[in-house]
Amino acid sequence: MREIYFDNNATTKVDEAVFEEMRPYFCELYGNPSSMHFFGGQVQKKVDEARGRVARLLGAEPSEIVFTACGTESDNAAIRSALEVFPERRHIITTRVEHPAVLTQCRNLVKKGYRVTELNVDGEGRLDLNELRSAVDEDTAIVSVMYANNETGVVFPIEEIGAIVKEKGKGALFHTDAVQAVGKIPLDMPTSTIDLLSLSGHKLHAPKGIGALYLRKGVPFRPLLVGGHQEKNRRAGTENTAGIIALGKACELAHQHMDDENTRVKGMRDRLEKELLALIPAARINGGEAVRLPNTLSIAFEYVEGEAILLLLSEKGICASSGSACTSGSLEPSHVLRAMGVPFTCAHGSIRFSLSRFNTDHEIDTVIAELPPIIRRLRDISPFGRELLK
Ligand code: PLP
Repeated sequence: MREIYFDNNATTKVDEAVFEEMRPYFCELYGNPSSMHFFGGQVQKKVDEARGRVARLLGAEPSEIVFTACGTESDNAAIRSALEVFPERRHIITTRVEHPAVLTQCRNLVKKGYRVTELNVDGEGRLDLNELRSAVDEDTAIVSVMYANNETGVVFPIEEIGAIVKEKGKGALFHTDAVQAVGKIPLDMPTSTIDLLSLSGHKLHAPKGIGALYLRKGVPFRPLLVGGHQEKNRRAGTENTAGIIALGKACELAHQHMDDENTRVKGMRDRLEKELLALIPAARINGGEAVRLPNTLSIAFEYVEGEAILLLLSEKGICASSGSACTSGSLEPSHVLRAMGVPFTCAHGSIRFSLSRFNTDHEIDTVIAELPPIIRRLRDISPFGRELLK
């Protein structure tokens, strides 16, 4: 069965051009870029080129890019660094809807005596900037707010947030987890308030296991990994050269495809959304009133189980994901939908479709044809759902 893949916020297909770019760096050009000989030197050149390509997507300087193993490492490195840079500051600000890469770390820091403010969101997943304004104080070491939410696609007003941090934070650093935004939203670091930014290769058609941290020139930094002198002493460990080269190529392609992402991909997402709302009663968009990524649709179907929808979609070859985290047999609605106050009956029936430039109109047509009968069938076996079908 050929897959129809609408789970691109989980991970993306490696672009074949990206794969071709990295392929020689396994069996042929396998040198260590730190070696003195020509064989390592040619890999070093290619790593430098990749750094330039990543930097260009952000409008940054190549020296501001530090390669890491993933988005999670970049997030951890950014927050840990700020706490080491400002040992006297004990306050961290984040949001209730962050990815666990940020949220789990912050909650662990509470156990170590740090004060953590988790900003609330409204029913559409939006922040109240006044809450941020009152939270930032002289004790704040870092404010870490995601650029775009992986579940709902809701985009936060990052520059307004950064301006508040700069105005009230007395030198507090501003970090954004931009793992879902990079490649979808144009970024320009020279005019930005962001000090540190995390990105991840496998969300933009590079392989898993490569990420980067943008570190603004002049921003003090303490490495998470110590050892060798790689990455100008900012991240020890022999470089994942093939991954770095792949990420460089993926960023170059993301730059070229940015318009496509915001027109064709957005057009497909909008059509899917409109048709599903028209064909399925008691459906609502999570974060539908907020500014959202062009590729993400989180849609709630009242009185059905998200997992049941996913299994039936999967039988048709359609891959999506749900808003629930299925842990140890209990189906808890996601922390993001809970923070938004999405009613229990909707949060459980929430499905995320996340598109990429590899999706087609035909695939959208398939979902539009397959999903309404699935929801009808599931509601038919639910006592509450049957009421809706009357
Ligand atoms: N941050 C966000 C918003 C994400 O969506 C993800 C991955 O799902 C991560 C961080 C973690 O990235 P990685 O899988 O590269 O560690």
